Amino acid sequence: MRALKHFIRSFTLWELLQGLAVTGRYFFTRKVTVRYPEEKTPQGFRFRGLHALRRYPDGEERCIACKLCEAVCPTKAITIELAERDDGSRRTTRYDIDLGKCVFCGFCEEACPVEAIVETRVLEYCGRTRSDLYYSKEKLLANGERHAATIDADKALDAKYR
Ligand code: SF4
Ligand code: SF4
Repeated sequence: MRALKHFIRSFTLWELLQGLAVTGRYFFTRKVTVRYPEEKTPQGFRFRGLHALRRYPDGEERCIACKLCEAVCPTKAITIELAERDDGSRRTTRYDIDLGKCVFCGFCEEACPVEAIVETRVLEYCGRTRSDLYYSKEKLLANGERHAATIDADKALDAKYR
């Protein structure tokens, strides 16, 4: 009986028809895929992408070299060196993030008391070598300047929903 059933199924291409029925069902439903990169999926304002260091409106660096981000980073991706200025304030002389190690957990941004280090919405970046993914302080500050408007808008939204 089992063999006969198997024979009939094979003879009528039953499994193929079942597969085509699934294809047909999805053919007429709403599409959930997008044609990336021409089309983009919506992003949340708390999206965690490429890192950036921010400045105050007068151009002064926000980072006060407290090293909290370095301490909280679970992958030890952040390296900070610092020096004291003549006025007694502390600033970093080195602030590097190895994005090859980073897991984009956002802990550094959460820990920062002055909202200096942030993760932007930028996700389209790459590196051909490992050193391309090593972001120095200059590169991070440049990221902050380039995306300042979006970062400020996202920070305002974040404050609203906290
Ligand atoms: S996002 Fe997480 S893993 Fe990446 S640098 Fe910040 S704390 Fe480290
Ligand atoms: S980025 Fe923020 S948490 Fe990290 S050292 Fe600077 S002030 Fe401290």
